[in-house]
Amino acid sequence: MAQVTCSFCGRNKKDVDLMVSGISAHICNFCIEQAHMILGEEEKTKKSSQSKPKFKLKKPKELTSYLDQYVIGQEDAKKVLTVAVYNHYKRLQQKVSDDDVKIEKSNIIMVGDTGTGKTYLAKTLAKILEVPFCIADATVLTEAGYVGEDVESILTRLLQAADYNVEAAERGIVYIDEIDKIARKSDNPSITRDVSGEGVQQAMLKLLEGTVVNVPPQGGRKHPDQKMIAVNTENILFICGGAFDGIARHIAKRLNTQPLGFSKAAGSAVADRENLLQYITAQDLKAFGLIPELIGRLPVLTHLDPLHKEALKRILTEPKNALVKQYTKLLEMEGVKLVFEESGLDFIVDKAVEYNLGARGLRSICEAIITDAMYELPSDDSIKELIIDEAYAKSQFDKSKFKRLQVA
Ligand code: ADP
Repeated sequence: MAQVTCSFCGRNKKDVDLMVSGISAHICNFCIEQAHMILGEEEKTKKSSQSKPKFKLKKPKELTSYLDQYVIGQEDAKKVLTVAVYNHYKRLQQKVSDDDVKIEKSNIIMVGDTGTGKTYLAKTLAKILEVPFCIADATVLTEAGYVGEDVESILTRLLQAADYNVEAAERGIVYIDEIDKIARKSDNPSITRDVSGEGVQQAMLKLLEGTVVNVPPQGGRKHPDQKMIAVNTENILFICGGAFDGIARHIAKRLNTQPLGFSKAAGSAVADRENLLQYITAQDLKAFGLIPELIGRLPVLTHLDPLHKEALKRILTEPKNALVKQYTKLLEMEGVKLVFEESGLDFIVDKAVEYNLGARGLRSICEAIITDAMYELPSDDSIKELIIDEAYAKSQFDKSKFKRLQVA
């Protein structure tokens, strides 16, 4: 009988673990494995060539009308953000040899009280973007070599968001939250290093400007044996946000010491005291403790307005996934009609203002009021309607843990 050999590599049957025979050819297990690998590689290149940038340029107004469905108010921030994102798209499409004009990226910094929608804006924007997007928290960062995370870890998230497609990550957008927490701790250089403040700011400079960074694919600390992925940050757009508690003081001081006074620049001084953030400038960020080099790399500055009762009430009812709509849906699935009376809504909003929780508080206040009903109703078929008016809201609220909280 003729020797059976692999038709691909010529190995003898006795030298391999397995030989698969076809009509007139044979293939050994080694060649099967190799062919499998080739197939896999082929598949991968096909996928990555399909995910090449094929943007549908979304215009600022289009982006805004989408944001409007979810985020109430904050017109200034929306305008600045959507223009920045639009320009980011355009920048990515710019051909290198067009002419000498090279569009530079304009990283953004957003300043606004907690719970006014900074993260929410960024998240909602992420939903419409066809570029990888991630949210990072500045509070966990420390200067390299200290306990905490290196600034490069920010890019690990972006890589994960891009499914480790480096090319896609390199045109992504990063939102860095709580940037105010890395403000310089004091104006005097001290003997102890400021590793989570100025140190981090220094470490971020290169990243924001554009450099090739070696990123640990799984995050955490870099260590010598780890395989690194090189990421170029030149085309990554960075958006930073922070509450900058107390910055209004700096703004007020600056406005009052200006020779012309700010009543001239800004109309009525009294009316505007409510929202001093709208006059924020780079100078105030510096007074707060951001180093000039960092401010220089975040050239676009915008603010978020404080949320007053009116806005809070709209947030409760208007957005696509407004809380009132969510609770109504939940109870509807139970066969119960939920009705929020105006007085009930006003009560919820008043409490959110009283406890100084911003829009973030609306959810927990609603939970405090509705949880009892959501516990009872599924087991009680006789109830077909639940009306939340001031009296009901108040009685439920008074029973809740909120009562025990100190008013801030
Ligand atoms: P921060 O400004 O502190 O980052 P967030 O963006 O996290 O605040 O807001 C907390 C929550 O409050 C969001 O998840 C969102 O549900 C709600 N919220 C805040 N601001 C708005 C807004 N302007 N419009 C609609 N919802 C908002």
